[in-house]
Amino acid sequence: MAFEGLSERLNKVFSSLRGKGKLSEDDIRTVMREVRMALLEADVNFDVVKSFIKQVRERALGAEVMESLTPSQQVVKIVDDELTKLMGTEAVPLNKAPHIPTIIMMVGLQGAGKTTTAGKLAKHLMENDKARPLFIAGDVYRPAAIEQLKTIGEQLDVPVYDEGTDQDPVEIVKSGLAQAHEKKNDYVIIDTAGRLEIDEKLMDELKRIKELAQPNEILFVADSMTGQVAAKVAAGFDEQLDITGVVLTKLDGDTRGGAALSIRSVTGKPIKFIGQGEKLDQLDVFHPDRMANRILGMGDMLTLIEKAQQDYDQKQAQDMAQKIKENSFDFNDFIDQMDQIQKMGPLDEIMKMIPGMANNPALANVNIDEKDISHLKAIVYSMTPQEREDPKLLNPSRRRRIASGSGRSVQEVNRMIKQFKQSQDMMKQMSKGNMKGMDQMLGN
Ligand code: GDP
Repeated sequence: MAFEGLSERLNKVFSSLRGKGKLSEDDIRTVMREVRMALLEADVNFDVVKSFIKQVRERALGAEVMESLTPSQQVVKIVDDELTKLMGTEAVPLNKAPHIPTIIMMVGLQGAGKTTTAGKLAKHLMENDKARPLFIAGDVYRPAAIEQLKTIGEQLDVPVYDEGTDQDPVEIVKSGLAQAHEKKNDYVIIDTAGRLEIDEKLMDELKRIKELAQPNEILFVADSMTGQVAAKVAAGFDEQLDITGVVLTKLDGDTRGGAALSIRSVTGKPIKFIGQGEKLDQLDVFHPDRMANRILGMGDMLTLIEKAQQDYDQKQAQDMAQKIKENSFDFNDFIDQMDQIQKMGPLDEIMKMIPGMANNPALANVNIDEKDISHLKAIVYSMTPQEREDPKLLNPSRRRRIASGSGRSVQEVNRMIKQFKQSQDMMKQMSKGNMKGMDQMLGN
């Protein structure tokens, strides 16, 4: 998962504060030194780290922490706020042209993920904006790049304008745009050539394409695995092309986070999307606050909820909310929930989005096994319909019957019923608008 290394490191730092009553200035200095080390190790740009630490230290030494009753939580909150600010505070949407087509130009070094991201973006726009995009194949130096774009075009059913590798890319873009106007495509995504490093010829070509196409978006595609180098390269492209946004790719493999934390500060341009895998649906809108929460192991409930909503039947969600309110959540609902969760994806990834779970040592060595869920389901399926609706009926002899019916041990059945009751209690608390139950769950 993204940023694992940094998350772990920061959590160690903050856990040393936990349980402390008042914090001394010395405590805060020590913590700041550790946070600084963690960020430098995560390959965050030096100047960015310096101003970040200064900011956090000032706030941490101020009244909001020193006079607070929960100083360690306040420090974490400040770091969370400042990380959010560092990454841009709010999600920034794509620019849209007043008249069609909106023109998006993808730029970046070779291998950063431009072509893949062009495909992901088209899919995103088709799903969220009912778009009818056109790709223009402007990378004439690598025949493979054109083929790759065509393959993506076929997968998504998006037309690709190309003239092979012999034409000047500026001419190709010109004819491609003419076709888009004629066919009334509402988005045009221009894939351009990259080099292994910035060179003048490449920049010159990109500038000419920019001048001709007058794009609404120039998205710099950055490979997050290259850490703060990505920020430096982004600044180079920005200087020449005045980019409008950044897409950070390969976050799925980035344990450190240096690019994500440096790029906004260094370029002043927003990160608009993040790529989290090779597949075309693995592109997400970038939310600085959610990312900060994730880095601090505070989970990413909003993304989890959105993920759930994608697969989740709205009606069922409403029914569930109602049940929680009325406190009538029973074992049948429990099974429905299990089914929904299983649909959402690999369980250990999902678990890590829950607050308090990302760095929970209990999870570190747990490989959540789909089998465990099947066992829980087997237990519920061995209950009678009455028992499922009214767990209070589950006396010892019924529990023994359920155990033998499901092929699980009585202890396991007991444990599961106990857990179910605990979650029922928690829901009761939540339905009363009392978040104490939630707090207890988070170990506060
Ligand atoms: P381009 O040269 O900039 O057009 O880069 P490509 O689109 O060809 O991507 C280079 C490699 O990175 C390919 O193998 C992609 O599958 C891979 N890639 C792109 N985005 C991501 C991502 O978000 N996660 C992962 N794991 N791989 C990615």
